[in-house]
Amino acid sequence: MKTLNKTLLVIGGGPGGYVAAIRAGQLGIPTVLVEGDRLGGTCLNVGCIPSKALIHLAGEFERAHRFTAANPLGIRVQEPSLDLAQAQRWKDGIVGKLTGGVGALLRKAGVQVVKGWATVVDGKTVDVATHEGEPVRIACEHLLLATGSVAVELPSLPTGGPVMTSTEALALTEIPRHLVVVGAGYIGLEMGMAWRKLGADVAVVEAAGRILPGWDEELTQPVMASLRRQGITLHLNCKAEGLAEAGNGLRVRSNQADEFVLPADKVLVAVGRLPRTAGFGLESLQLDMAGRAVKVDDQCRTSMRNVWAIGDVAGEPMLAHRAMAQGEMVAEIIAGHRRRFAPMAIPAVCFTDPELVVAGLSPDEAEARGLEVQVAAFPFAANGRALSVEGSEGFVRVVARRDTHQVLGWQAVGQGVSELSAAFCYAIEMGARLEDVAGIIHAHPTLGEAVQETALRALGHALHI
Ligand code: FAD
Ligand code: NAD
Repeated sequence: MKTLNKTLLVIGGGPGGYVAAIRAGQLGIPTVLVEGDRLGGTCLNVGCIPSKALIHLAGEFERAHRFTAANPLGIRVQEPSLDLAQAQRWKDGIVGKLTGGVGALLRKAGVQVVKGWATVVDGKTVDVATHEGEPVRIACEHLLLATGSVAVELPSLPTGGPVMTSTEALALTEIPRHLVVVGAGYIGLEMGMAWRKLGADVAVVEAAGRILPGWDEELTQPVMASLRRQGITLHLNCKAEGLAEAGNGLRVRSNQADEFVLPADKVLVAVGRLPRTAGFGLESLQLDMAGRAVKVDDQCRTSMRNVWAIGDVAGEPMLAHRAMAQGEMVAEIIAGHRRRFAPMAIPAVCFTDPELVVAGLSPDEAEARGLEVQVAAFPFAANGRALSVEGSEGFVRVVARRDTHQVLGWQAVGQGVSELSAAFCYAIEMGARLEDVAGIIHAHPTLGEAVQETALRALGHALHI
């Protein structure tokens, strides 16, 4: 067996693993990265990037469709058509560009990439069944686990035939007539809305009593209204029981125990993701676990010396930017820098229509911590930019300490609010007070003015409401 010796061995080439490897390479740490599938991981290949491309495509198609009827803008177009094969090629092209870019960045940083599936032998040794055929044994001083996560499968709805995970739902070559989405979380709503805009009949089955149960309820109200407007049917307090015998429907049971069948030629199961901890010998290390995730401290150290874990395999929140931040940090710690993972805010964005963004503490979270806070909101209906881009729905909300006015959290719902996440995080991480945000000149007309007005409103002197 071929052998290789490196200071750092990274298993997994997703946003966590590839960022860790690039930074380690930049810092002069001899590094090897093992990836069994495609560089870029879930995020670039079957997650963040292709899903956002699909959402953009669907939004553009819907907009074109909207202009076939009378509309306030006075634009009239003929009935649009969609070449889905071309659209999929466009989406795949973006993925190809980005994953190719990751390969180039790794090369530039001097990282060796081994393509193949890794099996952990011990905390300093990994065997790789390479795609080329010849197995490799890699010895390392530091082992970084960045193996990501896998979609949760429902026993009554194994993937296959009409039943899909997000991966298959991103690659459909025909628009389903009846798509049933199980789970009204991030994936279910982002993808359900996209396929609805592309022409599918969409029904959503959700076990909880409301959509996006992990999100602030007030924030999700405009998304509820949008689902209704788009004609997506919602079955709350319901669980999927399995495919109907005829194979063209989904059996659903409500919490009142009545069972009904929803027509379905495709079923997307999006009921969460679990850390990928099985199937590659990880058990042999007997690491401490935190539920299904590998337990890590605030430096992403596991319970075994010089074995590290980052990203989805290290648990919630399973978001690409958190994985990247942890990866960068671990590389720097190995290089001898003093670092800790203690962000005040890890922003979360749900790319529904309208979008949702949260950063820092919500009013409820602040209250649960016993903090005395003041909360203020500003509606996009009073923001010139929002009105001029037909995005008057939604609001920005701020949570600040009552005594010092230090900003602790932001929430927003509305068209394009994902881009406010940077401003939200700057304010929180830099310890801004309401007065700081209120005193900054924000360009006009922009959605950012709503952020400033929210701070002004919390101070009791909003100007435009
Ligand atoms: P991953 O990206 O999962 O990468 C892990 C890699 O490890 C994979 O490439 C895998 O092949 C490899 N691997 C695993 N085991 C082995 C082994 N034994 N040997 C070799 N290689 C191995 N997050 C956001 O922040 N924003 C979004 O908009 C967003 N949208 C999403 C949309 C969808 C449909 C999905 C499914 C997820 C989305 N996410 C989003 C979540 C995001 O993709 C993950 O949080 C992120 O990819 C986690 O990065 P990671 O590096 O921990 O793992
Ligand atoms: P999720 O946790 O967001 O939502 C799962 C939903 O399924 C929940 O509402 C839950 O109540 C429901 N559910 C669970 N079991 C059910 C059952 N048996 N029947 C009906 N409903 C059921 O999970 P997801 O949408 O699968 O996404 C997985 C993860 O991927 C997210 O938690 C997030 O970390 C990541 N992600 C992020 C983004 C983003 O950042 N924009 C987008 C997509 C995915």
